[in-house]
Amino acid sequence: CYILAVETSCDETAVSVVKNGTEVLSNLISSQIETHKAFGGVVPEVASRKHVESITYMLDEAMQASGITPRELSAVAVTQGPGLVGALLVGIVAAKSAAMAFGKPLIGTHHIAGHIYANQLEHDIVYPCIALVVSGGHTELVLMESEGQFQLIGRTRDDAVGEAYDKVARAIGFPYPGGPHVDRVAHESEEVVTLPRAWLEPDSYDFSFSGLKSAVLNVINQTKMRGETVQAGAIARGFQESVVEVLVEKAIRAMREYRAKQLLLCGGVAANQGLRTALRERCEREGIELLVPSMKYCTDNAAMIGAAAYAKWKRGEFTSLDMKADPGLYLEEWSVQS
Ligand code: ATP
Ligand code: MG
Ligand code: FE
Repeated sequence: CYILAVETSCDETAVSVVKNGTEVLSNLISSQIETHKAFGGVVPEVASRKHVESITYMLDEAMQASGITPRELSAVAVTQGPGLVGALLVGIVAAKSAAMAFGKPLIGTHHIAGHIYANQLEHDIVYPCIALVVSGGHTELVLMESEGQFQLIGRTRDDAVGEAYDKVARAIGFPYPGGPHVDRVAHESEEVVTLPRAWLEPDSYDFSFSGLKSAVLNVINQTKMRGETVQAGAIARGFQESVVEVLVEKAIRAMREYRAKQLLLCGGVAANQGLRTALRERCEREGIELLVPSMKYCTDNAAMIGAAAYAKWKRGEFTSLDMKADPGLYLEEWSVQS
Protein backbone atom coordinates (compact mmCIF):
# COMPACT_ATOMS: atom_id res chain seq x y z
CA CYS A 1 0.00 0.00 0.00
CA TYR A 2 1.41 3.37 -1.04
CA ILE A 3 -0.28 6.46 0.38
CA LEU A 4 0.43 9.97 -0.88
CA ALA A 5 -0.21 12.23 2.12
CA VAL A 6 -0.71 15.98 2.36
CA GLU A 7 -0.69 18.16 5.49
CA THR A 8 -1.42 21.91 5.49
CA SER A 9 -3.38 22.42 8.72
CA CYS A 10 -1.22 25.20 10.09
CA ASP A 11 2.08 26.71 9.03
CA GLU A 12 3.88 23.72 7.52
CA THR A 13 3.29 22.65 3.95
CA ALA A 14 4.08 18.94 3.93
CA VAL A 15 3.82 16.09 1.43
CA SER A 16 4.95 12.50 1.89
CA VAL A 17 4.67 9.04 0.42
CA VAL A 18 4.31 6.26 3.00
CA LYS A 19 4.42 2.53 2.37
CA ASN A 20 2.19 0.28 4.49
CA GLY A 21 1.66 2.99 7.10
CA THR A 22 5.20 2.54 8.37
CA GLU A 23 7.88 3.12 5.76
CA VAL A 24 8.56 6.71 4.71
CA LEU A 25 9.57 6.84 1.03
CA SER A 26 9.63 10.62 0.85
CA ASN A 27 8.91 13.36 3.38
CA LEU A 28 8.95 17.02 2.37
CA ILE A 29 8.29 19.82 4.81
CA SER A 30 8.31 23.52 4.06
CA SER A 31 8.03 25.55 7.23
CA GLN A 32 6.66 29.08 7.22
CA ILE A 33 8.09 29.92 10.64
CA GLU A 34 10.39 32.61 9.23
CA THR A 35 7.43 34.30 7.54
CA HIS A 36 5.21 34.30 10.62
CA LYS A 37 7.98 35.26 13.06
CA ALA A 38 7.60 38.93 12.10
CA PHE A 39 3.98 38.78 13.29
CA GLY A 40 4.70 36.90 16.54
CA GLY A 41 2.42 34.03 15.54
CA VAL A 42 0.73 32.33 12.62
CA VAL A 43 -1.32 34.69 10.44
CA PRO A 44 -4.04 32.53 8.81
CA GLU A 45 -4.30 34.52 5.56
CA VAL A 46 -0.56 34.47 5.08
CA ALA A 47 -0.41 30.74 5.86
CA SER A 48 -3.00 29.93 3.17
CA ARG A 49 -1.18 31.98 0.57
CA LYS A 50 2.16 30.34 1.38
CA HIS A 51 0.58 26.88 1.09
CA VAL A 52 -0.76 27.79 -2.35
CA GLU A 53 2.69 28.91 -3.47
CA SER A 54 4.41 25.64 -2.61
CA ILE A 55 1.90 22.80 -2.67
CA THR A 56 1.97 21.88 -6.37
CA TYR A 57 5.75 21.88 -6.53
CA MET A 58 5.93 19.82 -3.34
CA LEU A 59 3.49 17.20 -4.62
CA ASP A 60 5.75 16.75 -7.65
CA GLU A 61 8.88 16.61 -5.52
CA ALA A 62 7.43 14.11 -3.05
CA MET A 63 6.32 11.79 -5.84
CA GLN A 64 9.71 12.03 -7.57
CA ALA A 65 11.63 11.41 -4.35
CA SER A 66 9.48 8.39 -3.46
CA GLY A 67 10.62 6.46 -6.52
CA ILE A 68 7.12 5.21 -7.27
CA THR A 69 4.76 6.24 -10.05
CA PRO A 70 1.29 7.74 -9.51
CA ARG A 71 -0.20 4.50 -10.91
CA GLU A 72 1.28 2.57 -8.00
CA LEU A 73 -0.43 4.77 -5.40
CA SER A 74 -3.17 3.13 -3.32
CA ALA A 75 -4.77 6.32 -1.97
CA VAL A 76 -4.32 10.01 -1.34
CA ALA A 77 -4.62 11.12 2.29
CA VAL A 78 -5.02 14.67 3.50
CA THR A 79 -5.54 16.43 6.82
CA GLN A 80 -9.26 17.29 6.99
CA GLY A 81 -9.04 18.96 10.42
CA PRO A 82 -8.59 20.33 12.97
CA GLY A 83 -6.62 23.36 11.86
CA LEU A 84 -6.97 26.73 10.16
CA VAL A 85 -9.81 26.40 7.68
CA GLY A 86 -8.11 28.36 4.89
CA ALA A 87 -4.88 26.44 5.34
CA LEU A 88 -6.65 23.05 5.39
CA LEU A 89 -8.52 23.98 2.24
CA VAL A 90 -5.34 24.34 0.20
CA GLY A 91 -4.15 20.83 1.04
CA ILE A 92 -7.62 19.39 0.52
CA VAL A 93 -8.04 20.90 -2.94
CA ALA A 94 -4.57 19.65 -3.91
CA ALA A 95 -5.24 16.15 -2.54
CA LYS A 96 -8.63 15.92 -4.24
CA SER A 97 -7.07 17.00 -7.54
CA ALA A 98 -4.38 14.36 -7.20
CA ALA A 99 -6.94 11.70 -6.25
CA MET A 100 -9.06 12.58 -9.26
CA ALA A 101 -6.16 12.86 -11.70
CA PHE A 102 -4.64 9.54 -10.61
CA GLY A 103 -8.01 7.80 -10.09
CA LYS A 104 -7.27 6.93 -6.45
CA PRO A 105 -9.46 6.99 -3.33
CA LEU A 106 -9.27 9.92 -0.92
CA ILE A 107 -8.79 9.56 2.85
CA GLY A 108 -9.65 12.64 4.93
CA THR A 109 -7.47 12.33 8.02
CA HIS A 110 -7.51 13.72 11.55
CA HIS A 111 -4.45 15.83 12.35
CA ILE A 112 -4.11 14.51 15.91
CA ALA A 113 -4.57 10.91 14.77
CA GLY A 114 -1.60 11.78 12.57
CA HIS A 115 0.48 13.02 15.50
CA ILE A 116 -0.34 9.79 17.38
CA TYR A 117 0.45 7.56 14.39
CA ALA A 118 3.78 9.32 13.89
CA ASN A 119 4.90 6.68 16.39
CA GLN A 120 4.12 3.94 13.87
CA LEU A 121 6.76 5.25 11.46
CA GLU A 122 9.54 3.99 13.73
CA HIS A 123 7.94 1.52 16.15
CA ASP A 124 5.27 -1.17 16.31
CA ILE A 125 2.27 0.08 18.26
CA VAL A 126 0.77 -2.47 20.66
CA TYR A 127 -2.82 -2.03 21.89
CA PRO A 128 -4.34 -1.02 24.24
CA CYS A 129 -2.14 2.03 24.47
CA ILE A 130 -2.34 5.56 25.81
CA ALA A 131 -1.26 8.54 23.76
CA LEU A 132 -0.12 11.74 25.41
CA VAL A 133 -0.76 14.40 22.78
CA VAL A 134 1.11 17.64 23.43
CA SER A 135 1.07 20.20 20.63
CA GLY A 136 0.46 23.83 19.80
CA GLY A 137 -3.31 23.46 19.86
CA HIS A 138 -3.91 20.23 21.80
CA THR A 139 -3.14 18.61 25.14
CA GLU A 140 -4.92 15.29 25.42
CA LEU A 141 -4.75 11.81 26.85
CA VAL A 142 -6.16 9.35 24.34
CA LEU A 143 -6.95 5.70 25.00
CA MET A 144 -6.64 3.39 22.01
CA GLU A 145 -8.16 -0.06 22.63
CA SER A 146 -7.26 -1.15 19.12
CA GLU A 147 -5.98 0.21 15.82
CA GLY A 148 -7.77 3.37 14.73
CA GLN A 149 -10.00 3.54 17.84
CA PHE A 150 -9.67 6.79 19.74
CA GLN A 151 -11.17 7.57 23.13
CA LEU A 152 -10.48 10.91 24.76
CA ILE A 153 -9.97 10.44 28.49
CA GLY A 154 -8.52 13.88 29.25
CA ARG A 155 -8.04 17.24 27.62
CA THR A 156 -6.97 20.75 28.47
CA ARG A 157 -9.68 22.97 29.83
CA ASP A 158 -7.97 26.13 28.62
CA ASP A 159 -4.58 26.59 26.94
CA ALA A 160 -2.80 23.84 25.07
CA VAL A 161 0.66 23.13 26.42
CA GLY A 162 2.44 24.43 23.30
CA GLU A 163 0.32 27.56 23.41
CA ALA A 164 1.30 28.09 27.07
CA TYR A 165 4.97 27.59 26.13
CA ASP A 166 4.69 30.17 23.37
CA LYS A 167 2.93 32.71 25.63
CA VAL A 168 5.45 32.27 28.44
CA ALA A 169 8.26 32.54 25.90
CA ARG A 170 6.91 35.81 24.60
CA ALA A 171 6.59 37.15 28.15
CA ILE A 172 10.25 36.41 28.88
CA GLY A 173 11.35 37.84 25.56
CA PHE A 174 11.73 35.00 23.04
CA PRO A 175 10.54 35.09 19.43
CA TYR A 176 7.79 32.83 18.04
CA PRO A 177 7.65 29.85 18.35
CA GLY A 178 9.11 30.13 21.83
CA GLY A 179 8.74 26.54 23.08
CA PRO A 180 12.25 25.42 22.09
CA HIS A 181 13.80 28.57 23.66
CA VAL A 182 12.03 27.97 26.98
CA ASP A 183 13.20 24.35 26.87
CA ARG A 184 16.81 25.41 26.26
CA VAL A 185 17.08 28.10 28.94
CA ALA A 186 15.23 25.90 31.44
CA HIS A 187 18.10 23.41 31.12
CA GLU A 188 20.79 26.07 31.34
CA SER A 189 19.42 27.69 34.50
CA GLU A 190 20.78 26.78 37.93
CA GLU A 191 18.02 28.79 39.62
CA VAL A 192 14.35 27.89 39.68
CA VAL A 193 11.23 29.90 40.44
CA THR A 194 8.76 27.44 41.98
CA LEU A 195 5.36 27.69 40.32
CA PRO A 196 2.02 25.99 41.08
CA ARG A 197 0.83 22.64 39.64
CA ALA A 198 -2.69 22.38 38.26
CA TRP A 199 -3.80 18.88 39.32
CA LEU A 200 -7.56 19.58 39.09
CA GLU A 201 -9.86 16.94 40.66
CA PRO A 202 -8.00 13.89 42.00
CA ASP A 203 -9.53 11.51 39.44
CA SER A 204 -9.39 13.90 36.49
CA TYR A 205 -7.22 13.39 33.42
CA ASP A 206 -7.89 16.94 32.29
CA PHE A 207 -5.24 19.63 32.18
CA SER A 208 -5.15 23.37 32.78
CA PHE A 209 -2.28 25.70 31.97
CA SER A 210 -3.80 29.17 32.06
CA GLY A 211 -3.31 29.50 35.85
CA LEU A 212 0.33 28.58 35.47
CA LYS A 213 0.71 31.07 32.65
CA SER A 214 -0.83 33.80 34.86
CA ALA A 215 1.53 32.84 37.68
CA VAL A 216 4.46 33.37 35.31
CA LEU A 217 3.15 36.78 34.26
CA ASN A 218 2.69 37.74 37.93
CA VAL A 219 6.26 36.81 38.77
CA ILE A 220 7.51 38.88 35.84
CA ASN A 221 5.40 41.92 36.77
CA GLN A 222 6.36 41.79 40.44
CA THR A 223 10.03 41.49 39.57
CA LYS A 224 9.81 44.50 37.26
CA MET A 225 7.93 46.53 39.89
CA ARG A 226 10.74 45.89 42.35
CA GLY A 227 13.09 47.21 39.70
CA GLU A 228 14.93 43.89 39.45
CA THR A 229 15.91 41.98 36.32
CA VAL A 230 13.67 39.12 35.23
CA GLN A 231 15.45 35.76 35.56
CA ALA A 232 14.20 34.25 32.33
CA GLY A 233 16.00 30.93 32.91
CA ALA A 234 14.68 30.45 36.44
CA ILE A 235 11.15 31.18 35.30
CA ALA A 236 11.46 28.92 32.28
CA ARG A 237 12.78 26.13 34.49
CA GLY A 238 9.98 26.57 37.04
CA PHE A 239 7.37 26.63 34.28
CA GLN A 240 8.79 23.55 32.59
CA GLU A 241 9.02 21.61 35.85
CA SER A 242 5.37 22.33 36.60
CA VAL A 243 4.19 21.36 33.12
CA VAL A 244 6.29 18.21 32.95
CA GLU A 245 5.36 16.94 36.42
CA VAL A 246 1.62 17.15 35.73
CA LEU A 247 1.87 15.63 32.24
CA VAL A 248 3.99 12.73 33.46
CA GLU A 249 1.85 11.95 36.55
CA LYS A 250 -1.43 11.92 34.63
CA ALA A 251 -0.03 9.85 31.79
CA ILE A 252 1.35 7.25 34.20
CA ARG A 253 -1.93 7.09 36.14
CA ALA A 254 -3.82 6.52 32.88
CA MET A 255 -1.39 3.74 31.92
CA ARG A 256 -2.16 1.93 35.18
CA GLU A 257 -5.91 2.47 35.18
CA TYR A 258 -6.38 1.27 31.60
CA ARG A 259 -3.70 -1.43 31.81
CA ALA A 260 -2.18 -0.04 28.65
CA LYS A 261 0.83 -1.77 27.06
CA GLN A 262 2.53 1.31 25.67
CA LEU A 263 2.67 5.03 26.24
CA LEU A 264 2.90 7.05 23.02
CA LEU A 265 4.22 10.59 23.26
CA CYS A 266 3.41 12.87 20.34
CA GLY A 267 2.86 16.41 19.03
CA GLY A 268 5.22 19.34 18.66
CA VAL A 269 5.91 19.60 22.40
CA ALA A 270 7.11 15.96 22.34
CA ALA A 271 10.32 17.59 21.09
CA ASN A 272 10.73 19.05 24.59
CA GLN A 273 13.87 17.62 26.18
CA GLY A 274 12.60 18.08 29.73
CA LEU A 275 9.44 16.12 28.98
CA ARG A 276 11.22 13.40 27.00
CA THR A 277 13.79 12.86 29.74
CA ALA A 278 11.28 12.87 32.61
CA LEU A 279 8.95 10.46 30.83
CA ARG A 280 11.79 8.16 29.83
CA GLU A 281 13.14 7.97 33.38
CA ARG A 282 9.73 7.47 34.94
CA CYS A 283 8.65 4.81 32.42
CA GLU A 284 11.91 2.94 32.93
CA ARG A 285 11.32 2.88 36.68
CA GLU A 286 7.71 1.73 36.26
CA GLY A 287 8.48 -0.85 33.58
CA ILE A 288 6.35 0.96 31.02
CA GLU A 289 7.21 0.87 27.33
CA LEU A 290 7.44 4.43 26.00
CA LEU A 291 7.34 5.31 22.31
CA VAL A 292 8.61 8.72 21.23
CA PRO A 293 8.88 9.76 17.59
CA SER A 294 12.17 11.25 16.41
CA MET A 295 12.19 15.05 16.25
CA LYS A 296 11.28 15.33 12.57
CA TYR A 297 8.05 13.38 13.16
CA CYS A 298 7.07 15.30 16.32
CA THR A 299 6.25 18.59 14.62
CA ASP A 300 3.80 18.79 11.75
CA ASN A 301 4.62 16.53 8.80
CA ALA A 302 2.74 14.55 6.18
CA ALA A 303 4.28 11.13 6.86
CA MET A 304 2.24 10.93 10.07
CA ILE A 305 -0.92 11.58 8.03
CA GLY A 306 -0.02 8.69 5.73
CA ALA A 307 0.54 6.47 8.78
CA ALA A 308 -2.84 7.31 10.33
CA ALA A 309 -4.69 6.98 7.02
CA TYR A 310 -3.36 3.43 6.60
CA ALA A 311 -5.76 2.14 9.31
CA LYS A 312 -8.66 3.47 7.23
CA TRP A 313 -7.21 2.23 3.95
CA LYS A 314 -6.95 -1.34 5.32
CA ARG A 315 -10.67 -1.26 6.06
CA GLY A 316 -11.63 0.36 2.77
CA GLU A 317 -12.94 3.41 4.62
CA PHE A 318 -12.59 6.18 2.09
CA THR A 319 -13.78 9.77 2.00
CA SER A 320 -16.09 11.28 -0.57
CA LEU A 321 -14.56 13.75 -3.03
CA ASP A 322 -16.99 16.42 -1.83
CA MET A 323 -15.42 16.27 1.64
CA LYS A 324 -14.99 19.65 3.30
CA ALA A 325 -12.32 21.04 5.60
CA ASP A 326 -13.46 20.58 9.19
CA PRO A 327 -11.58 22.90 11.58
CA GLY A 328 -13.38 21.28 14.53
CA LEU A 329 -13.11 17.63 13.43
CA TYR A 330 -13.56 15.41 16.48
CA LEU A 331 -10.94 12.70 17.08
CA GLU A 332 -13.32 10.05 18.49
CA GLU A 333 -15.59 10.38 15.46
CA TRP A 334 -12.67 9.77 13.16
CA SER A 335 -12.22 6.28 14.68
CA VAL A 336 -12.40 3.35 12.24
CA GLN A 337 -15.87 1.83 11.78
CA SER A 338 -14.90 -1.82 12.05
P1 ATP B 1 -1.88 21.10 16.62
O1 ATP B 1 -1.12 19.90 16.23
O2 ATP B 1 -2.49 21.01 17.98
O3 ATP B 1 -2.84 21.55 15.57
P2 ATP B 1 0.43 22.59 15.85
O4 ATP B 1 0.43 21.66 14.70
O5 ATP B 1 0.56 24.06 15.63
O6 ATP B 1 -0.85 22.30 16.77
P3 ATP B 1 2.84 21.39 16.44
O7 ATP B 1 3.43 21.87 15.17
O8 ATP B 1 2.60 19.97 16.64
O9 ATP B 1 1.56 22.18 16.82
O10 ATP B 1 3.76 21.92 17.63
C1 ATP B 1 4.14 23.27 17.69
C2 ATP B 1 4.26 23.65 19.15
O11 ATP B 1 5.29 22.88 19.77
C3 ATP B 1 4.60 25.11 19.37
O12 ATP B 1 3.75 25.62 20.36
C4 ATP B 1 6.06 25.05 19.84
O13 ATP B 1 6.41 26.11 20.69
C5 ATP B 1 6.06 23.74 20.57
N1 ATP B 1 7.39 23.20 20.72
C6 ATP B 1 8.26 22.79 19.78
N2 ATP B 1 9.42 22.39 20.32
C7 ATP B 1 9.29 22.54 21.67
C8 ATP B 1 10.13 22.30 22.78
N3 ATP B 1 11.37 21.82 22.64
N4 ATP B 1 9.64 22.57 24.02
C9 ATP B 1 8.39 23.05 24.18
N5 ATP B 1 7.56 23.30 23.17
C10 ATP B 1 7.99 23.05 21.92
MG1 MG C 1 3.38 24.04 13.30
FE1 FE D 1 0.26 19.58 14.75
